Amino acid sequence: MTMITSSLPAEALHHAAALLQQRRRPLLISHPRPDGDTIGCALALRLALLQMGKIPSLACVHPIPENIAYLPGAETYVSDVPDDADIDLVIAVDMSDLSRTGGIYKDSWRGTLPLLVIDHHATNDAFGDVNLVDPDAAATALPLAALIDALGLPLTGDMATCLLAAVLTDTRGLRTSNTTPEVLRFVGQLIEAGGDYAGVMENTLDSVPYRQMRGWAVALNRLQLDGELAWATFPLAEKIALGIEDHDDLDLGNLLSRVAEAKVMATFLEMRDGTVKVSLRSRPGYNVAWIAKALAGGGHHQAAGCSVTGDLDAAQARVLPLAREELAKRLQKSHAMPD
Ligand code: AMP
Ligand code: MN
Ligand code: MN
Repeated sequence: MTMITSSLPAEALHHAAALLQQRRRPLLISHPRPDGDTIGCALALRLALLQMGKIPSLACVHPIPENIAYLPGAETYVSDVPDDADIDLVIAVDMSDLSRTGGIYKDSWRGTLPLLVIDHHATNDAFGDVNLVDPDAAATALPLAALIDALGLPLTGDMATCLLAAVLTDTRGLRTSNTTPEVLRFVGQLIEAGGDYAGVMENTLDSVPYRQMRGWAVALNRLQLDGELAWATFPLAEKIALGIEDHDDLDLGNLLSRVAEAKVMATFLEMRDGTVKVSLRSRPGYNVAWIAKALAGGGHHQAAGCSVTGDLDAAQARVLPLAREELAKRLQKSHAMPD
């Protein structure tokens, strides 16, 4: 089957395929607080590599959320890898910079092990030796599918299910503005290949653990709206009361992204290490990637994140003025060019 895929530099695709063919023991890394894209893609690639007779391994510094942990191969994830692990290739999946490996990537690997990056973040800084990055793609699943296709590998039902989990979560169930006809055709192809669309919708998109939903109650109680800016804070004490660990961000960013009056949304989760995890979302036409990047994070125009040091008040004092700046930019533009 020929995959319909996004525009990717043919050279990067060729280099990435050659690297996978040459190497035998690749390590696939998923980003911290993992989502369906970083996990689904790593699991699909693991299955592709097994087909090729390779010995892939998977690592993620945080546990796999319950609503993605049922995907085939998720039980093989480890939370750390020793410096001298028996690997000959490192693959960073769905991350914009090296710090997003969460410390799994070891300094001693630099220059000795090739690094392949497969990603779609607008803020990706091309940190790999080979970078398969499509910032226009709705999910890393698209450039990854192009790679699997370039390798000439058949797409099995399990691989398709993992890729469906990736694309359906990153598009919030095909609702984001980057859900192009190409994405919809891609989803159709995955279903034709035997991917379990209904199962992913049921088990992943429509499954919110009870504890998480109780967390949403806390966050929604604290929701604020000022003009076109909506935000909510989540104090550590509330997390402790509900038994919520730091690797769980309750998917609050996506919850708040739906506030009708808002164009920019922010969530602030207080962490046990004295930092605050910030999630930013925006409506099309507004860009929050630069805000996250200015605070040493990253992401996409419509969804970005960062961690800032200090308490909730300090984090709001840093982030909210930048969010208002973004809203003001658009206001200025619309005065200049009414549409
Ligand atoms: P989140 O709000 O954590 O769901 O993240 C939204 C998007 O921004 C995702 O695509 C993340 O991969 C990205 N992102 C979140 N936090 C960071 C960070 N600290 N550095 C770089 N990218 C991030
Ligand atoms: Mn991700
Ligand atoms: Mn992604």
